[in-house]
Amino acid sequence: DKLKERVNKTRENFSAKVNNVIKNFRKVDEEFFEELEEALILSDIGYATTEKVIGTLRDQVKENKISDSSEIKDILVNILADYMSAPPLEIRKPTVMLIVGVNGVGKTTAIGKLTNYYNIQGKKVLLAAADTFRAAAAEQLSIWGQRTNARVIKYAEGADPAAVVYDAIDAAKAADSDLLIIDTAGRLHNKKNLMSELEKINRVIDKEYEGANRETFLVVDATTGQNAIAQAEVFNKSVKLTGIILTKLDGTAKGGVVCAVKDMTGVPVRFIGVGEGVDDLQPFDAHEFARAILG
Ligand code: GDP
Repeated sequence: DKLKERVNKTRENFSAKVNNVIKNFRKVDEEFFEELEEALILSDIGYATTEKVIGTLRDQVKENKISDSSEIKDILVNILADYMSAPPLEIRKPTVMLIVGVNGVGKTTAIGKLTNYYNIQGKKVLLAAADTFRAAAAEQLSIWGQRTNARVIKYAEGADPAAVVYDAIDAAKAADSDLLIIDTAGRLHNKKNLMSELEKINRVIDKEYEGANRETFLVVDATTGQNAIAQAEVFNKSVKLTGIILTKLDGTAKGGVVCAVKDMTGVPVRFIGVGEGVDDLQPFDAHEFARAILG
């Protein structure tokens, strides 16, 4: 299927390493666990999450008296899926989705794809260009707005992002929108300003859009491997994240990082980007993903 094909590089990297261990060590013994642990760490799952996964695996092996390594793969798929899974995302009307993330990670593209995804579900989407720091950001968002038939609220470069959000909320109410997606600036080198900007935007939403369902999604680039997790930890300290969108999984062998995101940050992965096209965003399904990289 499409996911398997798109995460092919991760799949090749990941399953080659794990399959090697399974093939070379027929018996599930101490040596087997040690080799498997190393394979998982090398597959970008990271040390801390791998430790836990191996711990869970040891328990299950003992409990079910498993001795043949050929039985390990299915068990491992389920354990990895459990470490990634979360209750399904529900988009009640109206929802405000604040999208944060560092420049270049694929934030604008992700917003375009999200708009398309919810359009297809019959939801009315409005976009707010609250990255007023770069004129190009609003321009790009407008292009995605045209592509997806969504209205974009934008101001001139340098305008107050909170003012854009204020206006966008008015427009969303007037248009009876299901979903308001807000693009924000991504200049993390100026972290203090960025975080106070996001706080101000949040205050405007709290005040002007009472009762709206809220989501705050961080967009991170999967090709950066464990750095994606470091970014999530930094953002989650300042703005309470409710979900993560991992982009560019199609171009990387480091997709194993997905397995560690929720365990390390407590924030579930909600969507994954698997290409540059408007359709190349998938709602994240933990079991499907675990099977795609290992099954
Ligand atoms: P932003 O600065 O975070 O808004 O990043 P953009 O949305 O402009 O994306 C930066 C680059 O990454 C663009 O060339 C996108 O086409 C590309 N990109 C975004 N998402 C994906 C993805 O899931 N897969 C691939 N292969 N490229 C992506």
